[in-house]
Amino acid sequence: MTLESTISIEGPWGLLRRLREAMATPLSTQERLDKIVGDIAEHMGADVCSAYFRKGNDELELFATKGLNPEAVHQTRLGWGEGLVGQIAATGKLLNLPDAQTHPNFAYKPETGEELFHSFLGVPLLRGGRLLGVLVVQNQSERTYGPQDVEALQTVGMVFAELIAAGEVLIPDSSLVEGLRFDTPLRLRGTALADGIVVGHAVLHQPRVEVTRLIADDLDKELERLEDAVADLREDVDALVASDEYNFAGESADVLEAYRMFAHDRGWLERMREAVNDGLTAEAAVEKVMADTRKRLVNSPDAYLKERLNDFEDLSNRLLRLLIGTSNLPGLPEDGVIVARNMGPAELLDYDRSKLKGVVLEEGSATAHVTIVARALDLPLVGSAKDVVDLVEPGDVMIVDGESGDVHLRPQDDVLDVYRHKLELRTARQAQYHSDRGLPSVTKDGLEIALDINAGLLVDLPHLQETNAAGIGLFRTELQFMIGATMPRVPAQTDVYRKVLDAAEGRRVVFRAVDLGSDKVLPYLATTKEENPALGWRAVRLALDRPALLHYQIRAFLQAAAGRELNLMFPLIAEVAEFKAAREVFDREVARCKRFGHPLPSKVRLGTMLEVPSLAWQLDALLPLVDFVSIGSNDLFQFLFAWDRGNPKLTGRYDPLSPTVFAFLRNVVEKAAAYNVPLSLCGEMAGKPIEAMALIGLGLRRISMPPASVGPVKAMIRSLDVAKLTPIMGPLLTSGEHSVRDVLINFAQDNGIVIE
Ligand code: PEP
Ligand code: MG
Repeated sequence: MTLESTISIEGPWGLLRRLREAMATPLSTQERLDKIVGDIAEHMGADVCSAYFRKGNDELELFATKGLNPEAVHQTRLGWGEGLVGQIAATGKLLNLPDAQTHPNFAYKPETGEELFHSFLGVPLLRGGRLLGVLVVQNQSERTYGPQDVEALQTVGMVFAELIAAGEVLIPDSSLVEGLRFDTPLRLRGTALADGIVVGHAVLHQPRVEVTRLIADDLDKELERLEDAVADLREDVDALVASDEYNFAGESADVLEAYRMFAHDRGWLERMREAVNDGLTAEAAVEKVMADTRKRLVNSPDAYLKERLNDFEDLSNRLLRLLIGTSNLPGLPEDGVIVARNMGPAELLDYDRSKLKGVVLEEGSATAHVTIVARALDLPLVGSAKDVVDLVEPGDVMIVDGESGDVHLRPQDDVLDVYRHKLELRTARQAQYHSDRGLPSVTKDGLEIALDINAGLLVDLPHLQETNAAGIGLFRTELQFMIGATMPRVPAQTDVYRKVLDAAEGRRVVFRAVDLGSDKVLPYLATTKEENPALGWRAVRLALDRPALLHYQIRAFLQAAAGRELNLMFPLIAEVAEFKAAREVFDREVARCKRFGHPLPSKVRLGTMLEVPSLAWQLDALLPLVDFVSIGSNDLFQFLFAWDRGNPKLTGRYDPLSPTVFAFLRNVVEKAAAYNVPLSLCGEMAGKPIEAMALIGLGLRRISMPPASVGPVKAMIRSLDVAKLTPIMGPLLTSGEHSVRDVLINFAQDNGIVIE
């Protein structure tokens, strides 16, 4: 028979008060544990309550029980994933079973006498994402534990985990603490999200705010403390959003606005109030709701929701600090490397810029708000560094390699030496590039090659001056759309484009119409799941199907460029008809401008990207219509080779330095020259010296690249003799080889060409 249980009539608060009594009574550790499990069993009307704790990294041991055979204490052990308790440990999820013995994972341990018990409720004891143990209640009857029981056991489990972590419940002979401490060197392979290298000292972004008072004495008072702290938090966040201290002019303000919305979320406050009503102090309630939310969202397949988890954790930690009154942020050493599971953009902005040198995240993604802000602040950032928060100790020496995505924890001297050397070289190289910035981008035999930079945010603009680039060869306008909580309106778009043109001071800027879809997703635009997003509803396809978006954007371009030259290109054009359709939208906006008597750009040049191979077969029809063409090698190569560039199994499968690519590009170069249409290339390829050399060999005279590449590419150009390179290119087009990289490297080495 299954009984619905509502036995815990006192609610969790009564149980918590008993827990506090147990803590205050002078008892040995084992006696205290025994008392606690006894109290829980009694309070919940359970025949059994057992506490299992983690031993080392992959075992759980029964430390205390009321109801199971006492002989089993310190004898019964379960491997990670073994039995129901092991399953809870491995998954971090509770189990509520009316008849545990029929569960496929039930593991019979004869020494416990467990066979008498049917119903089973177990919760993980988690602290800061680390599993400390498992708390279980059992009954002989087939009882379904009700929501109140689950809530009670979870709440008491959370308090229990805090007490253990705070050292208030000492676990004899436990390797809990040692098992979680690390002092050996480790290398983690993450994802390089923001360029740069730093050797610094680890600072945990969220050092545990010690919640020492867990159980409420007076619920009304705790509720009042919670409400007051939330009000203060909202005020702080509103002030942060309103402040112009971080003048990112537009884009980061949108990011912060999203953050503010979360601070005002009513559901969040409601859940914390409920936790206080269950008997927790305000600070313990904040922790509990943070842990619950994390558990719910961390495995969510929805990337947007997962990223929002950071905002919640960020806010929860701020709230904790407000309640406990400690200073907001850990102090930074002179070379602080922030380590976090993830973080909100506002938190990064809170740190002292002069001491913050790098960031490592367990999560993070190229489009996460915090990444965009880190790049803006010129901080190396590595994401997807698995378990780094658990593996690092504050103060550890660490290396963040934002070029390769490697993170070294507690590196040995030889690794440190390698990196010190790498850093010295990098610094020297950068100093050299900087001092060479005034030198012309001209080959040894006098051929001028225009070097542009790729940009997408206002914070990229100082790079124009720093690199002394010819202009901006690709301004990715979609970034402004991607970092905001809402679609930027025409005035906001106009403002950004105007600032870009102002900063360019007359250098040529090529704007690209919004290139959304595929991996460039908008948080606020619901899209349907696509089988092949890279081949899907994206870029100009999306823009032509939703012409309002394109109309508004073109309106913003026209306003921003009034009286100046406007260069605009459309992404992912696959056929001439698409270019014509996009141009029609443009023409209609120009006509509208004229109708209203608005000033127009002094000159308009409309072009297209060449990213889809089909377009290369229509050049005779296309070239007479366009003012310029820019080859987008990133997308082009994935379509040319049917090569998913995001698939790690295919990394390095094909080489852009190959006869296929060369023959393709040579054809485009010749056609463009025949029609006298300016041609450039703006994919990542252009930023690598050896690739850039090949492009010049194929006849390109203008290339656009990430700002950091301008120095190395210019050094290559200034050491190159094109007259020597051109003759070796011809045979490579028909060589039939997988790659001709070695031929080009040998050529560079033999001729003293700088390709570092
Ligand atoms: C390209 O595809 O080469 C390109 C420059 O566009 P994006 O990288 O923005 O897709
Ligand atoms: Mg592209």
